[in-house]
Amino acid sequence: MTSQIGSTVLGYPRIGPHRELKRALESYWSGETDRARLRETAGKLRARTWRELHEAGLGSVPSNTFSYYDQVLDTAVTLGAVPERYRELGLDPLDTYFAMARGVESTPPLEMTKWFDTNYHYLVPEIGPDTRFGLSDRTPVERFREAGELGITTRPVVIGPLTFLLLAKSAEDAPASFSPTDRLDDLLPVYAELLEELHRAGAEWVQLDEPAFAADRRPDELEKLRTAYAELGGLSARPKLFVPTYFGDPGESLGVLASAPIEAVGVDLVAGSTTTNVLSGLTGLRDKTLVAGLVDGRNIWRCDLDGALSTAATLLGIAGEVSIGTSCSLLHVPYDVSAERDIDPQVKSWLAFARQKVEEVVLLDRALHEGRDVVRDQLDRGRAAVEDRRAAARLRDERVRSRTSRLRPEHARRGDPAKRRADQQRVLGLPPLPTTTIGSFPQTSEVRKARARFNNGRIDRATYESEMTDEIRRVIELQEALGLDVLVHGEPERNDMVQYFSEHMEGFVSTENGWVQSYGSRCVRPPILFGDVSRPEPITVGWAERARSMTDKPVKGMLTGPVTILAWSFVRNDQPLGETANQVAMAIRDEVADLESAGVGVVQVDEPALRELLPLRSEQHGQYLDWAVRSFRLATSGVSDATQIHTHLCYSEFGEVINAIVDLDADVTSLEAARSRMEVLDDLNSVGFANGVGPGVYDIHSPRVPDVGEIEKLLRAALEAVPVERLWVNPDCGLKTRGYEEVKAALINMRTAVRRVRDSL
Ligand code: GLN
Ligand code: ZN
Repeated sequence: MTSQIGSTVLGYPRIGPHRELKRALESYWSGETDRARLRETAGKLRARTWRELHEAGLGSVPSNTFSYYDQVLDTAVTLGAVPERYRELGLDPLDTYFAMARGVESTPPLEMTKWFDTNYHYLVPEIGPDTRFGLSDRTPVERFREAGELGITTRPVVIGPLTFLLLAKSAEDAPASFSPTDRLDDLLPVYAELLEELHRAGAEWVQLDEPAFAADRRPDELEKLRTAYAELGGLSARPKLFVPTYFGDPGESLGVLASAPIEAVGVDLVAGSTTTNVLSGLTGLRDKTLVAGLVDGRNIWRCDLDGALSTAATLLGIAGEVSIGTSCSLLHVPYDVSAERDIDPQVKSWLAFARQKVEEVVLLDRALHEGRDVVRDQLDRGRAAVEDRRAAARLRDERVRSRTSRLRPEHARRGDPAKRRADQQRVLGLPPLPTTTIGSFPQTSEVRKARARFNNGRIDRATYESEMTDEIRRVIELQEALGLDVLVHGEPERNDMVQYFSEHMEGFVSTENGWVQSYGSRCVRPPILFGDVSRPEPITVGWAERARSMTDKPVKGMLTGPVTILAWSFVRNDQPLGETANQVAMAIRDEVADLESAGVGVVQVDEPALRELLPLRSEQHGQYLDWAVRSFRLATSGVSDATQIHTHLCYSEFGEVINAIVDLDADVTSLEAARSRMEVLDDLNSVGFANGVGPGVYDIHSPRVPDVGEIEKLLRAALEAVPVERLWVNPDCGLKTRGYEEVKAALINMRTAVRRVRDSL
């Protein structure tokens, strides 16, 4: 039997078109407003989303895609996976939820990490042998009813059991042999109960997301997937089940899902474009609906409707039914491009944000099922926009292209590391265990205000520059007083480490309101990289020179690397990412050269996103790391041996990129390490890393000031692994989110600890 789902989107933004949820959350957390107010804002946002999706004509409107903080946390709470230490706080359900998300004084929050290869962060559930699963929260059912009261029948969305367990980590007290997936059998009855309740409430369809299967999975994990859906599909009274994977090719999991007793399977045909090749071999799809994820949920370009339709047409005979969907949830794109007033009109005509993507889904589905003629005009308009973009002269800058086409291996190679070290030491004359920071100093409200006033035109450039110069002087004086060895200017002029550079390069546009949730109430506004990239004039040199003129100590210039610029932008999809990376690299290379000419002898090029962009499938790692490493080296190899190149990496376990860190060949690499107690140094040793390294000696993510003894201990541990000539001393990351009070205290302690260790050398 064929069962219909109709056109749909896998999820939708929830922070609010004007970030209403962000404001409501933050004012609730600060105690300014009460929970009734928060609930009211949340309810309005949900109603608005359901109505909008319903009125746009989707065949199936999702629900439970709203979250007060994070959908993985929501799932953990629904399933009863709340660690004892949060239950013991004795808070009510909402505040227990926020305690898990944000911590309370006595209890830190759950760990947070990146959601697959996106810049969204989820809270990591903790599962142990004793976790007491049980349907302890009925939010999915309540939301279904809430939408029902508006006359809209929705499709509740919940993270699937395997992805939930695969994303969880083992509870601290679990035996080493334990893995959260061991608990599948105990978890499935809770899913079954939830499905039965949803069925009783009238839900026709439920979506269970299994994106974890777009990454490498072991045979036993695939077997568990089979078991899970055999069991859930075998329930006698249940809604129809729709199971999508997304963020890449589903690989073998697709065969498992195709033969499972479920009614619909979803595939990401944007990130997993080769999936179409295997679909025809899956006879199990003949009695199922295939939701073809042809509208890109991760990027902001208008869909190539003709291309999507021809792909969809090839699927028609393969599945019982084909519906059009998004490749993944639309959580990763902003709300509405029509709200943008300042984007260049031609570029704007090429864009589709969430709202426009819903229209594209509806349109494609109609064209597929009712015929192109019914929607001829809209198809023509869409085609015109896509062709306009394809043909646009402004995408190409022949100077940029001829430059990257002439690149040779030697452009990405520096001199012998030992000679570099000697040359640099001759110029810099640094003491053993040199101290430095990662770049930013606290961004005070005065600094933020000055930037805002300048952007609104309320102060002129001269006033702005003099205020920033004063701030730089204060930061330099502070570092001198602290006795640090390599100083920074503090980055007061930067709103964000990627946006700042994109605003000063050709090939990018910024949005006014293109906010995307990063975690909780935090949003980012990624720039849009639409054309060939170049740097018309120096960006940071003036600030760095000013800082340099204020001190006799070396000042480190501060840049963002090509991989991170790409990772935190919406990138063009009309050429390979590696090619775009080369262009960005050459723009940064120009900046590095200008810093060197201005007498800045130390330049740091940050690549905190190196790990983030690593493909989910290991077979693709090599190709990614090739271009990623090459682009960093292109950016940093244009200088003399005497110029010292630093890089900074954070946010991750470095395991899978550890060889790449060696290959970057920076003179000094600073890394996040305080929380992992310097383990990264052994990892680096094991792959033959032989350059300078600055493992962070204290965690800047917490306001806690580390004491001298604790830093000293970490330094002595580091010296066990690294010879003194190669060891640097610095915090874990930039200081911009901290207050001066704590930063001063922490840096004084860092400095004192270094003195003690130096004295004992
Ligand atoms: N130089 C940047 C800063 O200090 C690095 C930020 C980062 O690692 N994310 O803020
Ligand atoms: Zn960092």
